[in-house]
Amino acid sequence: MKNLQSKVIIITGASSGIGEATVKLLATSGAKVVLAARREDKLRLLTDEIRGAGGEAVFQKADVTSREDMRNLAQLAMETYGRIDVLVNNAGIMPNSRLNELKVDEWDRMIDVNVKGVLYAIAAVLPIMKAQKSGHVINVSSISGHIIVPTTAVYSATKFAVRAISEGLRQEESPEFGIRSTNISPGVVKTELLNSVTSPEVIGMSDWIRSLSISPDRIAHAIAYAINEPDDTSINEMIIRPTIQS
Ligand code: NDP
Repeated sequence: MKNLQSKVIIITGASSGIGEATVKLLATSGAKVVLAARREDKLRLLTDEIRGAGGEAVFQKADVTSREDMRNLAQLAMETYGRIDVLVNNAGIMPNSRLNELKVDEWDRMIDVNVKGVLYAIAAVLPIMKAQKSGHVINVSSISGHIIVPTTAVYSATKFAVRAISEGLRQEESPEFGIRSTNISPGVVKTELLNSVTSPEVIGMSDWIRSLSISPDRIAHAIAYAINEPDDTSINEMIIRPTIQS
């Protein structure tokens, strides 16, 4: 992974699941990783593990729903490594339920984390990438950003929004400023994502959903592939789903 080596890569939601797997793969491949999430203990462990293996990593406790946290995160990357090559907008939550359950607080939370969080991180890095005249934003959407089934209306709405943001960013920033935009849409992946579910109907489906799932390593590989392509090539959209997922 030659083009990936020494790149400075910010990853949100780095404390578990797809983010953790991505951090490990990128650091092993020679990237300088900047980890962010709310669970500081997990970030510290992961950072120590990477450094212990000879890799380069720093972390910051950060909530993606805070503009200030996202600004501070970009600042940490700049102060430590002097540039930002890639932002992986991965943090997300999925407390799915039917609309008629009226879990309005969970709708708010999904919109805040999955949509505003993505935008706040982009706002923090875009001026820096424009000044560099290079950069790469990778947004983790979902297969739910392509299809809607009962209980996914709000989550799907947030992930459709993520795809819109990815495509808008590509149109506005790629031709003039050389900033690449990649939208990744995973199917079912074995992570902690279902832990935020409170709807009895969705909890009842959890074992079945988990039985379909693939390893987060598969998504990490897709992210690494998109970064590793030469700078004149932009991978704009990838769907990665378990072979047995309908
Ligand atoms: P996990 O629950 O394992 O990871 C979610 C990550 O997001 C955690 O690191 C969590 O860290 C972080 N996070 C949640 N809320 C915030 C917040 N407010 N601020 C900062 N970080 C936050 O799930 P996945 O790895 O599966 O999820 C990663 C992404 O992949 C999400 O965007 C999800 O929607 C998407 N996805 C997942 C699929 C799956 O089947 N697993 C399928 C399709 C898409 P912490 O709690 O420490 O803050």
